[in-house]
Amino acid sequence: MESQSFSEKSYWLSTRDYAPGQPLSADIDVDVAIVGGGFTGLCTAYHLKKKEPGLRIAILESEVIGFGASGRNGGFNMTLFGLTLGITALRFGKRKAREAHLYMEKAVDLLRDLVAELDLDCDYEHPGFLRVATSEKYRARILEEIELAHKLGLGGIEWLDKAQLEREVRSPMYLGAWWEPRCGILNPAKLAWSWKAVITRMGVAVYERSPVAEISRQGGKVVLTTTRGRVRADKVVMATNAWSHFFPQLRTKQVPVWTHIVLTEPIPEKVFADIGWQNRQGIEDARNLVHYYRLTADNRLLMGGRDVSVTASGDDMDQDLSPPTFAGLKEDVRQLFPALKDIRFTHEWGGPVSVPLDMAPALGYLGDKNVVYSLGCVGHGVSLTHLNGKTLSDMVLGRQTDLTEVFFVNRRTIPWPPKFLRNMAIKAIMGYMHWEDRRFDAPVADPSISPPERTAR
Ligand SMILES: Cc1cc2nc3c(=O)[nH]c(=O)nc-3n(C[C@H](O)[C@H](O)[C@H](O)COP(=O)(O)OP(=O)(O)OC[C@H]3O[C@@H](n4cnc5c(N)ncnc54)[C@H](O)[C@@H]3O)c2cc1C
Repeated sequence: MESQSFSEKSYWLSTRDYAPGQPLSADIDVDVAIVGGGFTGLCTAYHLKKKEPGLRIAILESEVIGFGASGRNGGFNMTLFGLTLGITALRFGKRKAREAHLYMEKAVDLLRDLVAELDLDCDYEHPGFLRVATSEKYRARILEEIELAHKLGLGGIEWLDKAQLEREVRSPMYLGAWWEPRCGILNPAKLAWSWKAVITRMGVAVYERSPVAEISRQGGKVVLTTTRGRVRADKVVMATNAWSHFFPQLRTKQVPVWTHIVLTEPIPEKVFADIGWQNRQGIEDARNLVHYYRLTADNRLLMGGRDVSVTASGDDMDQDLSPPTFAGLKEDVRQLFPALKDIRFTHEWGGPVSVPLDMAPALGYLGDKNVVYSLGCVGHGVSLTHLNGKTLSDMVLGRQTDLTEVFFVNRRTIPWPPKFLRNMAIKAIMGYMHWEDRRFDAPVADPSISPPERTAR
């Protein structure tokens, strides 16, 4: 991992001056040590301190707070759990899909409320969410998802037809949309750094540029080893997300997958007359490899998704830049909003998300109850990590609450197989997703689209 250029890792990480804190440079004893300074680690520390102000807590971060997905994401505070409601229902059953959605509703509300209560500086807006249909097949897919949500007794989601959607956002590609008021957009790096300020004031010690190389046991303690100091802790929280596989204890639970983003210059005011978007909703489409897009506080268009990158070795974490995906995303912006055909793009970046084999989050214990972990938020972890922090704090404190009882706490994850088989599995899954997206993208039946075996890359 790089040390110097964290501000180049995303546009967000360059939107404020940030001076990283000191590394760990001595041996220390704490009650709880947290590995990873993203939203999961920061929020776990916050909820622990709120419940038990006397706890001695340290966070150890390899690079700087917000260096991982938390400082690079699209900034959607949204209810989506895993990939889709339908896939969650298929994998875990309808009752659990409903439980997951209700957990996510709670997560979105919690983040929105914490931003207000603690005055977290992160350009927060709460404009709602549109999942737009860009072909007839996607229209059918979205309508099916809405029907499933309603069958599960979930509220706050409705269908906007083409004319209704046109009053909100205008694109020649839109046929209608899923509309859900419960969604916010924010600047994630500012949010991570605001969290650091809050928990530091509460007495949490934050060590940056302090990669943990090893977890071991000594007597009843858990020991974390870094280059210049060791931490002896009663309890440890592993909040390392897409880097988790570097720890043997978590190796098979997830793989890193990279998603990429491009950003425009601020959109001139007159263009909004063409595209509308006066209510500034966060938008996704309904592809397997979704597009996600939104406006920033200064009216730049952030467009992410379309494709993902993976690494054959599993260990090379330098996959942030994907020129073909960046080029494709820029073309997608021009196709969606022809009024932006001459817009300039100023930033491109990417970051890793944590993907379990069944694409759903997992929280649990490693061996005894002294080490807990959270991973697998896929591309939907901004809200989730904020509530997971509260859940992890209950797990660390040994409290049984409604949060620790949800089905993805302490669930059995399906292990990713060894490298060769894992790469074959990824190739097959990606091949299928691409093939189906091409089929669904096509406005009419397109005989040139071949079946998955032949398109698998
Ligand atoms: C490009 C992109 C777009 C996304 N868009 C959205 C979105 O719009 N909405 C949404 O809900 N989700 C989105 N996500 C997902 C979301 O960002 C993540 O799920 C969430 O931020 C995960 O937070 P985390 O704290 O678990 O992990 P991270 O933020 O990745 O933090 C893990 C931290 O652990 C540190 N670390 C790793 N190894 C070690 C070690 N050995 N020692 C010490 N520290 C270590 C890393 O440096 C990192 O800072 C997106 C992700 C990406 C990459």
